[in-house]
Formats: sequence, C-alpha cells, structure tokens
Amino acid sequence: MKFESKTFITISEWEKIPFLVHGFGNKNWQYADFETHPLLRNFKPLYLRQIHSDILHIVDDVPDDVLSGDALLTDRQGLLLVIKTADCLPVLIADPKTKALAAVHCGWRSTSQKLIRKVIQCLVEHFQCDPSSLLAALGPCIGKDCYEVGEDVRDEFEKRGLTHDAFLPHPQNLRKFYLDLLMATRHQLLDGGVKRSHISQVDLCTHCEEFLLSYRRSQQKEGRMLSFIGRTFA
Ligand SMILES: [Zn+2]
Repeated sequence: MKFESKTFITISEWEKIPFLVHGFGNKNWQYADFETHPLLRNFKPLYLRQIHSDILHIVDDVPDDVLSGDALLTDRQGLLLVIKTADCLPVLIADPKTKALAAVHCGWRSTSQKLIRKVIQCLVEHFQCDPSSLLAALGPCIGKDCYEVGEDVRDEFEKRGLTHDAFLPHPQNLRKFYLDLLMATRHQLLDGGVKRSHISQVDLCTHCEEFLLSYRRSQQKEGRMLSFIGRTFA
C-alpha cells in the first residue's frame, strides 16, 4: 500500500513486536482518530507542551496539567506517548526486554542539547535498559537537501562538542549550511550504545511530500503530525 493512502506509517519490523503499538501519523491523522481506531482507542494519549528543550518526563499516568518538555518515557501499559512534529524529527524508542518506551521530539535545538543521549541515559538508569537491546525508529522529517540553516545553528552544535559532519556546505553561501537532522540523531543513538542494525528510519522528507506537513513549506501555518508509541495490555 502507498504511504499516501495510509493515515499513519509504521516500521514493518516493529509490527511483529507483540507488546507494542506505534505509528507516524501523516497530515490526515487527527487527535480524534486515537479515540476511534480499533488498536488505539483503549489507550490514554499523553501529549507534551513541546518547547525545543532537553527536558524529558517519566510518566506513569496522564498528569492533571500538560507537561512541558520534549521527551516522554514510560514502561506502563495503556499509555500512548504522543509527539507533534512538522519538519522536526519524531523518534520512537522501545526496549523488548524491559518494555520501556520513549517518544522524542528532535528539532535542531533539542538535538544540539543532546536530548537523545539523555533519553538513553534515563532508560538505562531508571528502567535498567541495556542500550544494545534498544530499538529506535526515526520518522519523517525535513530532509538534508531542504533544511537550510545559518551559522548560529552550527555554532550551537560546535559549542557542545558535537560533530560537524551533519552540516553540509551551502553551494553559494559560506555562512549557510544544510543540516542532516537524521544523521545528527543517528550519531547520538550510536554514541549511546544503540546498535546500527536496531535503528530504522522512514526516509520521507516532510518538505517534499505533500501528504506530510511541513512548517517551512506551509510558512508556519499548518498543524502538526502526530507520532505515537504505546505498550499494550497483553
Ligand atoms: Zn525535501
């Protein structure tokens, strides 16, 4: 089936994991769809007020007030961790051993603040995960050919000792770069001990694909796509 005709994209290897539901919603997938989808309607969706930070939250239930931050972690059944994106990269992490899960909002700011590294560290310290058993799925995001950034962005990465190879030179302008957000995120996963063979990625550019939402393409007007991961009751 073509991606366009689905309402959310899944990772085929992950569909075989019995305790897991997951998906990267396209522009047609709405909040209300969580309540009616046969696989998801018994889950309690949990959202963040996303602030492009390195703040993560371990959750056991839906809190009374909306939490501010950019990553959610749980090992509880029946919670659906939801991340909203339109060009930023949604990352889902699952540990088949401990059944701990994470959903992460990776824009350039959170990536420069090493949010993914912090999430892995928390999975290890709080949930006793072994990084070599973690599975990571990288959803649709703005592709490296479409993501022009300025020196300020590269400087933020440099300041924190992150590698330069995720920044590609701009052909006309020495002060501009193209940022490969997928590569920057993969570096942090690998540095954190995640196996290369355990990293899956969707490889669709939000800026190029009309059935996805892009903050840049829409001049910041459109909504956000919803990515989710949850542990079933089974
Ligand atoms: Zn593109």
